[in-house]
Amino acid sequence: MTFRGLIAVVLTPFALLPAALAQGLPDLGDASQGSFSALEERRLGDEIMREVRADKHYSDDAETTDYLNALGNRLASKGADVRQDFQFFLMQDRQINAFALPGGNIGVNSGLILAAQAESELASVMAHEMAHVTQRHIARIIDQQKNSTIMSLAALAIAVLAARSSSDVSGAALALGQAGAVQNLLNFTRDHEREADRVGLQILEGAGFDPRAMATFFERLQRATRAYDGGAPSYLRTHPMTYERIADIQNRLDRLPYKQVPDSTEFQLVRAKLRVDLDTPGDSRTFFEESLAERRFLSEAASRYGLVASLVRLKDYARAKKEFETLRKTAAAHPMIETLGCRIRREAGEIEAAIGCFRDALRAYPRERAITYDYADVLLTAGRPEPALAVIGTRLQSFAEDHRLYLLQARAYAMQGKRLAQHRATGEAYARMGNYAGAVEQMRIAVKSGDGDFYQLSAAEARLRELRKIDDAMRKEKSRF
Ligand SMILES: [Zn+2]
Repeated sequence: MTFRGLIAVVLTPFALLPAALAQGLPDLGDASQGSFSALEERRLGDEIMREVRADKHYSDDAETTDYLNALGNRLASKGADVRQDFQFFLMQDRQINAFALPGGNIGVNSGLILAAQAESELASVMAHEMAHVTQRHIARIIDQQKNSTIMSLAALAIAVLAARSSSDVSGAALALGQAGAVQNLLNFTRDHEREADRVGLQILEGAGFDPRAMATFFERLQRATRAYDGGAPSYLRTHPMTYERIADIQNRLDRLPYKQVPDSTEFQLVRAKLRVDLDTPGDSRTFFEESLAERRFLSEAASRYGLVASLVRLKDYARAKKEFETLRKTAAAHPMIETLGCRIRREAGEIEAAIGCFRDALRAYPRERAITYDYADVLLTAGRPEPALAVIGTRLQSFAEDHRLYLLQARAYAMQGKRLAQHRATGEAYARMGNYAGAVEQMRIAVKSGDGDFYQLSAAEARLRELRKIDDAMRKEKSRF
């Protein structure tokens, strides 16, 4: 089911759902049994994330995702009273929006990151969404809805509602004759918005960002609204109250001295990267050429980074290398810049040079996820599974839950003709993506593969039994509906 399909389905009262549709729905637990626990919320969050990952806008770009999580951690670690795990993820979507889902999952659209003119502005929206999570708004909606005709599934609508533009949701709701019910839920969230503003500002200020950024950002979005064909940006449509509240807060903040908070290099580089990904390569090249020529930029390094990335997409490798040399001479050393340099070589087909480049980059920045993936990938492209497995193995020692490492590992084992190991690694990847049925299937193939030694075979059999148990338990829960 697509993410969009999910929206339409969750807005239908559960009792009216055809059985066939209900099967694909996230498991919400039994709403009649007490309040929605943090564990149930976490599990619901995992289910929804499976749908989100299948959405065409979802991006697992390591550099951007790691940047968003680093910024989120900065907010969470110093922000006021935040005791909760957050996972931030990127949606490659021009719509200016961010949204909180159950279990601490927060989506940030690339449109929002590009619209932010300062890191504090981006941080202000993230802090607001984090506040929805810390105040357990979703669980509270689910509890509130227990006695209404709308079952707990409708609460999910709120989460998904914030995820997508309100016009989508109202369209789906009207089609299903549920407009009134949706309006009730919307009213219910207004108190949540006020609370998220208040707590979000505390988080923002506690982490040392400019508290005025929230108001500045909303004002700019409001002004830009006229330029939008489809009306206000989705974030303003789902957060109309926020703007009024923020204007209020700003009046009070105006008496405080102005606080200059410098933007991180990552903020600038990630914005350049996202622009290259969203625009056509020709458009982004022109954009960065002009910004460099007119010296109209927030960061010269980021503009040149954007120009080089555009040139790579245009396959103009000679000029990309030339501009990259200038970038490297003028900008401070940074893993994203090193990675871009290596990617020029890889895209230009200079595989041996790319291997050496990524190896050096990983030595300089051993913790960088993107470099690890790229290095292992280029080794596999060159038909060298052994060193690729060594790189992946080292990383797995610290990050055993990273499904992408297992997928790379499976590719390496396939290249070596090790079928048991290949399917076991694929199964481990699926399990970490929440696809237990797929994991069981892969582990069954692994056991039957006929290769591997006694130790490997019994380990795979034990793992198959474990995964079957988890898969059975999850099926049983679903059949309770
Ligand atoms: Zn909100």
